[in-house]
Amino acid sequence: MESFDEYFNTLWDAAMDEDLRVALKRAVERFRRNRAEAFKIYPWIEEKAEKLRKVKDYSLLHMDELAKEVKDRVEDLHGSCIIAETAEEAVEYITDQVKAGDIVVKAKSMTSEELDLNRHLEEAGCEVYETDLGEFIVQQMGSRPMHILAPAVHVRREKVAKLFSKVMGREFKPDIPTLVTAARDFLREKFIKARVGITGANAIAAETGTVFIIENEGNAKLVTGLPDKHIVIAGLEKIVPTLQDGMLVVEVAMRYANYKSSSYVNLISGPSKTGDIEKQIVYGAHGPREYHVVLLDNHRREMARDPVYRQALRCLRCGGCLYACTIYPLVAGYFGHVYIGGIGAILTRFLAGGIEAAAPMAYTCTLCGRCREFCPMKIDVPEMILKLRGELAERGLTPTRVKEYVEELIGFKTG
Ligand code: SF4
Repeated sequence: MESFDEYFNTLWDAAMDEDLRVALKRAVERFRRNRAEAFKIYPWIEEKAEKLRKVKDYSLLHMDELAKEVKDRVEDLHGSCIIAETAEEAVEYITDQVKAGDIVVKAKSMTSEELDLNRHLEEAGCEVYETDLGEFIVQQMGSRPMHILAPAVHVRREKVAKLFSKVMGREFKPDIPTLVTAARDFLREKFIKARVGITGANAIAAETGTVFIIENEGNAKLVTGLPDKHIVIAGLEKIVPTLQDGMLVVEVAMRYANYKSSSYVNLISGPSKTGDIEKQIVYGAHGPREYHVVLLDNHRREMARDPVYRQALRCLRCGGCLYACTIYPLVAGYFGHVYIGGIGAILTRFLAGGIEAAAPMAYTCTLCGRCREFCPMKIDVPEMILKLRGELAERGLTPTRVKEYVEELIGFKTG
């Protein structure tokens, strides 16, 4: 864990980094242009977002019964499902599903960052590959995601070429299509050899137990389709009542994430099966033989009980607020701790590190409120940040006290 001073120095270095500034400027401009174009084609999307807000609010107030419904449906469909109260319980369940020597491929799984899952899988003797291109780049760099949806937003093509040359053992020019093909070729073999595929979920429909995964690259199709075993790890807030509600999540999330339409939407409701011989159902046809869903609490229920913090659980992880933020374009994901930005401060406080990890982030936010304007779920980040600062102040944790407090927690002076 960083002290407040270390965190401040990291932010300062990031703000002074020319490479980072160029990469972020390009990304922010492109995002804003694409989003404006998408909104011209789909002007009714704000109405749909309003409808989804109501669905999400209902779902958060009925989290327990919806989770139970998902569990029942998944089990009916010949899968396994657990509701993990803690991160440790989720990690234990998932690591029980792998064995030393397994190749594990992963896609679209921000929640697994919350669990530090890759480290646990590697300690269990697995070879783990992130397969979303941005995640793959960040993993191979030994770095961490710098945006919810575009984890390698800060890495310029020249750096990717150097990295791939080292990882793949041959020279690559900084030509983007060539680099994409290199990653495709490298990962293809891993998909085929993988015994376990792990994904997150954009939504889960309680009435059918169906998991929705939105993607563009086609890697989630392979992660969910080729290995023997598919494990889904998703927060309880991803559950919505019906299949139609799940479609609404898909529609709103992909428009606000800047795409007119994502290339693929995967809907998964159990292991693969066939009844083509004498109508006898056999599980494990061409797709996975086993299917596991891990529904993660890890303080989400506590958040859902709080009338102010609850709204953070409506977050679709569309990432729009980060491009609107006054601080993010200067320092990228260094304004973060697993989760990024103002919304990230609140998610960090509950889901990824606790109040001490969220403290520096709470004081980085300028309370400008631009994120609220861009957010499809109208999440009032400044309102929550003020509440968080109140909690910090109650602990005597004002900015001048943050350093001392962190030192108390980590047990030594940071200089
Ligand atoms: S807070 Fe809103 S804008 Fe930001 S990622 Fe979540 S849903 Fe998207």
